[in-house]
Amino acid sequence: MRRFLAALLIVAALLPAAAQAGLYDSTMILVNKQNALPKSYEPDDLSYVDIAYAEGVPATRKQLREEAARALERLYAAMLEEGIEIVGVSGYRSYSTQSLIYNQRLEETSLDYVSRYVAKPGQSEHQTGLAMDVAIPDWPFLTTDFALTDAYAWLTAHAHEYGFIIRYPETGEEETGYAFEPWHIRYVGDTAAELRESGMTLEAWYRRRLGGSHARREARFLLPTGSK
Ligand SMILES: [Zn+2]
Repeated sequence: MRRFLAALLIVAALLPAAAQAGLYDSTMILVNKQNALPKSYEPDDLSYVDIAYAEGVPATRKQLREEAARALERLYAAMLEEGIEIVGVSGYRSYSTQSLIYNQRLEETSLDYVSRYVAKPGQSEHQTGLAMDVAIPDWPFLTTDFALTDAYAWLTAHAHEYGFIIRYPETGEEETGYAFEPWHIRYVGDTAAELRESGMTLEAWYRRRLGGSHARREARFLLPTGSK
């Protein structure tokens, strides 16, 4: 077993950088407290998302990966058509940005708060370029009050039609490792409908898939190395 692992490490080291990056490029990638992205990972297809934003959002955070960016624009347009407005608060964040945020929050609040709400660098979905925090224009802050808005009600009913899920649901803290974050939507593509239908978190979905030996080989490529 040890020899096998050593061989795997050698193979990984020999892979060109592009192929290694490809390991993390699935839109189903699982990033959480057990599955971290490497410091060097940065998606190579980040694209500006053409929606409204809260004031002061830096340009770098108005980006998602190409596929997710276009899907969010479609979702945004569909909401507007029904008279519901949202604003983007934070999309892509690099490892180093997350590092700054984590340390800053740790200074401002407590370790208990930080561990429930703020991901450590490498463990944030925002580094994948597949997640966007949203709010409403009148209250452009990331608080659970967002769950009381029409915008949130619309997202719970329709986000999956555009490939997005509410990544940290109210009842999911034990599985996801994070408290309820109604504002954090994550692009997963077509699987969003299945996830919504089943009520499963992304962690539960992976656990079920990994349970079948057939899926195991495929799933390994979706999981960052060093995952548990
Ligand atoms: Zn978020």
